[in-house]
Amino acid sequence: LSQAPAKKTAVETEPRIRHLVSINDLSNDEIFSLFSEADRYLATLGDPVLGYRIASGLSIANGKIAASLFYEPSTRTRLSFETAMIRLGGQVITSADPQASSTSKGESLADTVRVVSNYADLIVLRHPRDGAARYASDFAHIPVINAGDGGHEHPTQTLCDLFTLTEEHKEFRNLNITISGDLKGSRTIHSLVYALARLGSKMRLLPAKGMELPANVERRLRNEFGGRTEADESAIGAWYITPDQPHQPALFTEPELPASSPVGDRVDAVYVTRYQKERHSDEGERDYPRVDKKFLKDPKYSKSSVLHPLPRVDELDTDLDTDRRAAYFRQAAYGVPVRMALIAMILGLDPAKRLRNFVGGFRDTGAIVIDQPEGAGLKCPNRNCISHDRSEKPHLRDKFTYVTYTPPVLRCFYCESDIDSFVIGDKRHRRIYTRQPKPATPRNLVCFTDEAQARQAGFSQA
Ligand SMILES: [Zn+2]
Repeated sequence: LSQAPAKKTAVETEPRIRHLVSINDLSNDEIFSLFSEADRYLATLGDPVLGYRIASGLSIANGKIAASLFYEPSTRTRLSFETAMIRLGGQVITSADPQASSTSKGESLADTVRVVSNYADLIVLRHPRDGAARYASDFAHIPVINAGDGGHEHPTQTLCDLFTLTEEHKEFRNLNITISGDLKGSRTIHSLVYALARLGSKMRLLPAKGMELPANVERRLRNEFGGRTEADESAIGAWYITPDQPHQPALFTEPELPASSPVGDRVDAVYVTRYQKERHSDEGERDYPRVDKKFLKDPKYSKSSVLHPLPRVDELDTDLDTDRRAAYFRQAAYGVPVRMALIAMILGLDPAKRLRNFVGGFRDTGAIVIDQPEGAGLKCPNRNCISHDRSEKPHLRDKFTYVTYTPPVLRCFYCESDIDSFVIGDKRHRRIYTRQPKPATPRNLVCFTDEAQARQAGFSQA
């Protein structure tokens, strides 16, 4: 008797798809092809008078469904995604306030994503926890687009920001952009500075007091995205990030990128960020930089485009709304064509223009990921990380990427917080490494916060 062929399980047939969790999941070339698609939509579907506005639709997404899962209120981002899907001819199912429904009954994000994966063709996720989108993508067999995960990243906002700069006729190479406000708690800024560094722009940072760019974001800029940082002597607390070509990693290389040239005083764009009330104590509000007509009176701002991800509080004067330099309402409008292009390319609605698909949804960067045994050793130091969410405990494994800096660091797989001090052990012979070699067989490895923790777990010095 011949044996019946084994039944294929869902795991064996893991589809090749594409997720977007971080702006760094997209190569520069992919960003540019996304922008030419968005431009094409504006040219063919744009309002004849207000050229930045999409005024009609297509039917290429006919029969497709996007699920918007918003665990944190953000009407504008949600409406922009839903408009984009509908303009493409698709439909939307929405759970505007999952906190009031399934979560209160104890359903985990992991289970919600598994269930919704069988209803829709695409998940758009907004979540208050850092790393929630990366975590959700582990359970989804349809594309997940990160619409903001805690203080981590907001890649589609960055795409809109970058697209606005190109539409305002700015070149990324040697673009001189001033970024002011909350550089610490603003996730849109983290995605934006990575992308601008990759694209060869020069950034002048004007953080509010105590809201400087986090040290790990700055180090990452230097080590991975070719950003060189220097203090700006003219203002306290201000500094520059300039492109530093030799360190540009291969994935992002722009072959013709010239060495950075002096750009003088001209400022091409001013990017203002909102005071993130929900992420800080109230004290910061007093010293918060404000961009108004007085600020922009300096001749170096005479041709600057003013961008703001909106909503604004007091940091951006409404007097500017009628100023020709104000680009922020156009920036919000561009959210529709940009998200249309992203949805169309991630779903492969035009097979010739689809984003490349991968098993697991991400390009293989060759990074070594250490999957921690249950309950063991090192935890992510970021308390707002999804890995500390109690309702996810039964599904979640602590995972760390081994980053080959000198000295090496571990990076939380979900929220990308870096850990500088740690000990790595080998499960086979329960030894800890004194020096940290590049781990060849990550599945045998386990990470500890220090030697004492390792010894407590029965590990000893090699
Ligand atoms: Zn984490």
